Amino acid sequence: MAEIEFYLSTAVICMTAVLFLESVFPLHVAPVPLRRWLRNLGLSVLALSISLLTPLLFLALTHASSALPTMGLLAQSKVPAWGQWLIVFLTLEGLRYALHRLSHRLPWLWRLHAVHHSDVDLDATTTHRHHPLENFVSSLAMLPVLIAIGPPPLAVLAYTVLTTMVDTFSHGNLRLPTAIDKVLRLAIATPAYHRVHHSAARAQTDSNYAGTFPVFDYLFRSHGRVPDDGGRNITLGLETNRDASSQSLMALLSAPFRRVQ
Ligand SMILES: [Zn+2]
Repeated sequence: MAEIEFYLSTAVICMTAVLFLESVFPLHVAPVPLRRWLRNLGLSVLALSISLLTPLLFLALTHASSALPTMGLLAQSKVPAWGQWLIVFLTLEGLRYALHRLSHRLPWLWRLHAVHHSDVDLDATTTHRHHPLENFVSSLAMLPVLIAIGPPPLAVLAYTVLTTMVDTFSHGNLRLPTAIDKVLRLAIATPAYHRVHHSAARAQTDSNYAGTFPVFDYLFRSHGRVPDDGGRNITLGLETNRDASSQSLMALLSAPFRRVQ
């Protein structure tokens, strides 16, 4: 499917672009962490494959029932195109925000989501470092919402591409001038803004949930203070699972089933 190829190409191009920017404007300079990158990319390939379940299932259902595309709320409404796009963006972003907050609240979801947080450093390769089961849960939650609202397919694709671009940017090891960062983070999550969320200190971890648009963080007052140094001195990762043996691909895949973190 052309949409899937487009999405995967976007993910690869974004990661390559941000890795290049990190070499020019790094928040902190470090030797290339080749092993960590390979582990993150291995997990990303698995997680992204599972993420594709939603469009594949949606397409299969559409083929099985030709009435499906016209059944959704938006498909039957007289809302103008720009309004439909706005509703799609807010609904999908709101769902991501709700799922993310639940992932920090519910122990079984946290076991899955903690794999993303267990990275002891932060750069573009962290973006898609998720446990595949976490993406499976997100895909399952997203599917009925898509069926219910019946969104314009192009709006869903545009949202997915935009969130992939901003997510990769906000995970980057990048330093922006403080004044620019302050203005930019009113609209999108900046590297400094999202770095706070990856702090090992739980109070900071449970804040700044947005990796893309912080609108719901501001609305529900879950945004935290962003340090002026761009978060350079923040200790990243979890308080546990910091040793090398906890960071192997097999350890990351089995982490949710091993012990309470
Ligand atoms: Zn999180």
